[in-house]
Amino acid sequence: MVNGVVVLGSTGSVGRSALAVLAENRDRFRLLGLAAGGNVQLLERQIAEFSPLAVSVSGEKAARELRGRFPRLRVLHGAEGLDELVALPGCDAVLAAINGTEGLRAAVQALRLKRRLCLANKETLVAAGEIVRREAAVAGAEIVPVDSEQSAIFQCLAQSGPAGVRRVVLTASGGPFFRDRGRDLATVTVAEALAHPTWSMGRKITIDSATLMNKALEIIETRWLFDLAPGQIDVVVHPQSVVHSLVEFVDRSMLAQLGVPDMKLPILYSLTHPGRIAGPCPGLDLAALGRLEFFPVDRRRFPAVALAYDVLSLGGDAGAVFNTANEVAVEYFLAGKIGFSAIPAVAARMLERAGQQRPVALEDVLALIAETRERTKAHIENEVIS
Ligand code: MG
Repeated sequence: MVNGVVVLGSTGSVGRSALAVLAENRDRFRLLGLAAGGNVQLLERQIAEFSPLAVSVSGEKAARELRGRFPRLRVLHGAEGLDELVALPGCDAVLAAINGTEGLRAAVQALRLKRRLCLANKETLVAAGEIVRREAAVAGAEIVPVDSEQSAIFQCLAQSGPAGVRRVVLTASGGPFFRDRGRDLATVTVAEALAHPTWSMGRKITIDSATLMNKALEIIETRWLFDLAPGQIDVVVHPQSVVHSLVEFVDRSMLAQLGVPDMKLPILYSLTHPGRIAGPCPGLDLAALGRLEFFPVDRRRFPAVALAYDVLSLGGDAGAVFNTANEVAVEYFLAGKIGFSAIPAVAARMLERAGQQRPVALEDVLALIAETRERTKAHIENEVIS
């Protein structure tokens, strides 16, 4: 079990859940450092509650203001600030819940320093799976997933080891449009896409859940996390979000992990693995639930899932291109500039030229992400909007 913890992305949805877990277990874990983006008011409340050794914010101006209010606190900023937080003495685990390329850099830095990487940021493995795995192996560092599906698979494998796995089955809630099969997805509004039926999350990931792009990213993440072949990764729609994922072994026996849909559960496990302690969530009332349903994924209606397998067979830079194209497309959708169905279409279009390069260093991936952002924007501005 770990003791000293640094939380990157403390004011986001996963970060707030992580702090709730830490607040209930002050005797076991020490919160050493916090990093946040724009929400400085919430960060200030977190500083007052936890008295960390250091914090980091995105910009220099916010850092100066914080120093004024907390004169004895070490206040850092930018990418270097994240590097310093991760390097704090006594840090055993880094909970990586910052989106985007900043999160990717910090995750790799944590692995290099042999911290346990409690990974909530999907981009890290989607964009740079091969590199991140290599960094973890070289340093002898552990990656423990925080995403509920990946945590479920990780927990099932902890029971019997990776040998003898036939396939894994990721569950997907199906998002808000799964049940309404007659609905033309091209007409979906931003407000409709933001109304997720079972999970309460940030805006980007909620849109990703509605397009099933979130599941697509998880398919890619699963490949890198557990070193599986694409044909060993399946997806099934499970609207109740109670079975978090399953593993089928060669004898055709299956193990599943179940729990209430609350991120505090996988966050706590990522810190206590391989042990367990009493958690903050209520148990499942199976009789009250009554039934659990499973349905196939309609890959024509939700093309993101099929695209994930294209990414895996293309390899090389395809994961970084796919993830970046989706990020940009979601920004345009949230700004009301493109339609819902354009999101997977943009990602598919940007994938057409992917798979030829193979980034070997983190810097290559960061450059590729920056270049893909510009190409995706140009494609949307010139061919989708006009
Ligand atoms: Mg998930």
